[in-house]
Amino acid sequence: MSSKPELAASRPAIDFIDLAAQQRRIKPKLDAAIARVLAHGGYIMGKEVGELESQLSAFCGAKYTLSCSNGTDALTLVLLAKNVGPGDAVFCPSFTFAATAEVVALRGATPVFVDILPDTFNMDPASLEQAIAKAKKDGLKPCGIIPVDLFGQPADYDAINKIAKTNNLWVMADAAQGFGGEYNGRKVGSLADVTTTSFFPAKPLGCYGDGGAVFTDDKELFDIMASLRVHGKGTDKYDNVRVGLNARLDTMQAAILIEKLAIFGDEITERQRVANRYNAGLKDVLATPAVPANMLSAWAQYTLVASSEAARTTLQAKLKEAGIPTNIYYPRPLHQQTAYASYPTATGGKLPVCEDLALRVFSLPMHPYLENETIDYIVENVRAIAATL
Ligand SMILES: *Cc1c(COP(=O)(O)O)cnc(C)c1O
Repeated sequence: MSSKPELAASRPAIDFIDLAAQQRRIKPKLDAAIARVLAHGGYIMGKEVGELESQLSAFCGAKYTLSCSNGTDALTLVLLAKNVGPGDAVFCPSFTFAATAEVVALRGATPVFVDILPDTFNMDPASLEQAIAKAKKDGLKPCGIIPVDLFGQPADYDAINKIAKTNNLWVMADAAQGFGGEYNGRKVGSLADVTTTSFFPAKPLGCYGDGGAVFTDDKELFDIMASLRVHGKGTDKYDNVRVGLNARLDTMQAAILIEKLAIFGDEITERQRVANRYNAGLKDVLATPAVPANMLSAWAQYTLVASSEAARTTLQAKLKEAGIPTNIYYPRPLHQQTAYASYPTATGGKLPVCEDLALRVFSLPMHPYLENETIDYIVENVRAIAATL
């Protein structure tokens, strides 16, 4: 069998995400960009920050881009600008990174957890409608929806925006994983009232530290967030018109992101190549990711579904022996986490799809620089292990 340790030992280590390969590709440009910031010394809100914001708006088709300190603060800036607080219900999928619901709970509002669709891992519109009814019954005031583009794939914005409109709710897309994706020919960043993303190093568009951004066409919202980003400033930061944050993106990170954004479109194409090759090699042995024809995923992760929790354990252990790293996103849905277990769910209890998938999903190495030969080695090993299950 191809997963023999001696074969693994003869191969270079396989990275789950290879940031070094990307760095080698653009190293001279990164060095020059960093040197320019060191030379001009405008470390806070230097000119690269505004340049990046313009380039991001042009890339995704949003009228306004506000860069900020990280993807979590991006979500918080929007909730602060919209005055979300106690008594308000905000609807989030339970199968996501904690930040999506954390920001809601920190404002004193109530995250209401929604189940996901079994094939796309994204918010289930039917469960969302159930959650809205549940929140009203509980005496909460529904105010907004936070769909997540899990693993890079856009949520079903047509269905979600329609439900939002009927119920007079805003939609904030948490595109920390989805930036670079498309839905009906439109880029993520222009699919909801407001969209947030993260530039955490491991995200599809990552910097070398923390960073994030908010995208919107709403000028009033943008202006309030621009004030909130710098301590609620009015004419300047010593004129404080509202209680705000220090939530700026560093100039150095903006300069780095400008160089990475220049190759981002090409990297998305390369991620699609990797996903296509995995799909072709694995679709007859395991449940491979389903991306509807009207969507393009940013492929933050390539996630498979094993037939059972035991099958997943075996697959992960044997892949590890063959030198192939895997990860589980996410081992436990938020409504089952200690910090969030007391918040309501769409059903008032279990969210069966999230709970089932948390036991069976696992992700394979995914990055734009994964070579075909390495993908084939991974595919061959997954196939060989799956055949024994
Ligand atoms: C990474 C992530 C965030 C948080 O981004 P940070 O930049 O780490 O604060 C929020 N939501 C989702 C879905 C994420 O994957």
